[in-house]
Amino acid sequence: MSAVPPKITSPLKREVYLLSRVGLKDSHTLAVYKAHGGYAALEKVLTGGFTPAQVIQIVKDSGLRGRGGAGFSTGLKWSFMPDPAKDLRPRYLAVNADESEPGTCKDRVLMEKDPHGLVEGILLACFAMRVKTAYVYVRGEYRLSYERVAAAVAEARAAGLVGAKILGTDFACDIWMHKGAGAYICGEETGLMESLEGKRGHPRPKPPFPAGAGLWRQPTTVNNVETLANVPFVITRGADWFKSLGTPKSPGNVLIGISGHVERPGVHELPLGISARTVLEECAGGVWKGRKLKAWIPGGSSTGLLPAAKIDVAMDHDSIREAGSMLGTGAMIMLDETACTVRAMQVIARFYEHESCGQCSQCREGTEWLHQIFARLERGAGRMEDIELLSSLANGMAPAKTICALADAAAIPTHAIVKNFRAELEEHVRLGRCPLGVEHHAPELEGAHA
Ligand code: SF4
Repeated sequence: MSAVPPKITSPLKREVYLLSRVGLKDSHTLAVYKAHGGYAALEKVLTGGFTPAQVIQIVKDSGLRGRGGAGFSTGLKWSFMPDPAKDLRPRYLAVNADESEPGTCKDRVLMEKDPHGLVEGILLACFAMRVKTAYVYVRGEYRLSYERVAAAVAEARAAGLVGAKILGTDFACDIWMHKGAGAYICGEETGLMESLEGKRGHPRPKPPFPAGAGLWRQPTTVNNVETLANVPFVITRGADWFKSLGTPKSPGNVLIGISGHVERPGVHELPLGISARTVLEECAGGVWKGRKLKAWIPGGSSTGLLPAAKIDVAMDHDSIREAGSMLGTGAMIMLDETACTVRAMQVIARFYEHESCGQCSQCREGTEWLHQIFARLERGAGRMEDIELLSSLANGMAPAKTICALADAAAIPTHAIVKNFRAELEEHVRLGRCPLGVEHHAPELEGAHA
């Protein structure tokens, strides 16, 4: 993370809460968490006579939207769980901590520096949905995150905050930890559930949706780490306070990671709706080495590459969509004027080819072909008709033509590069090389499908 605190001049209300404890000595411990307002929300709910329905209503009223990429209303998602009076099956919460979207490392900060914030969010979500068992599925590479959250759960259990009779009430909830094994697709909610059940992480067709048939075919909600970390603040400070931050349709703060060709890569807590230029210039110190911005990815590798001209767009769900991309995980990746966008897409396409689980032919074959075509364009062996072929392939893969959205994740940036950087693709073909002189780095593809 950047060591230099950002100087923000945006007119949006600015208030740090999610990262307010990050930077304190031993911020990951129960003592520090409690000394800075920790578990006050849980106490408020359990000893203040709140019903589960009231907690769901507060979260609905706050307008909190999931921070894992889809941006769906959190309170509404919770309300999809069946009425426990009519459905007596066991029910679960699965916490998606398998952060693996390239460019994204914001949940990691929360898990390493403020794990009790996640634990409290889990407990509140479980109370609201009458869940007694939660699983935290942590990306396998995130060793410290796993250790910190596991230690926080153990500390909370020893303090009577996890397990039976929490805070002396009848509320009981247990939290169990699970390590992923490095598959991107296990960050997709149904792939994650298959993996938690001990099977290969193959996504399942929907419907049925997890609220009806999730883990072990029982009612399940899957929530992202940052989403849950917001919940204690929504409960203690109220829905109106939450809505005073961000924009009317995208309230609250969001963790934005910025990386690539910038002076100071880092993760920053900012109100939704802040301009991308503010993040780049005031948080990240601008494009590195005094160069100009050429292109940028707003929300992780599955969101479309935008040209520098769109850098003044607001970082919220609707504004980014209008600009032709998606907020995704809020992971901005910046490319300077010396970068080759064809090479960038070759790397992205290669990633999705590697991570496709192979169940759907459109995705299994499509991601491989996208990679092969970007690779030959990059090395100067492409043909003009390859550009239309890219669009045609992407149209055959998405939207919603496969079991999960991985095919969309490969198709969306493909459409974006054809739309926004067509001239650069054409120049690679005309010159038979990268016009910027960037060397290609895919020797294993020489001759393949060319
Ligand atoms: Fe697997 Fe791709 Fe189909 Fe998703 S879209 S289920 S990753 S083959």
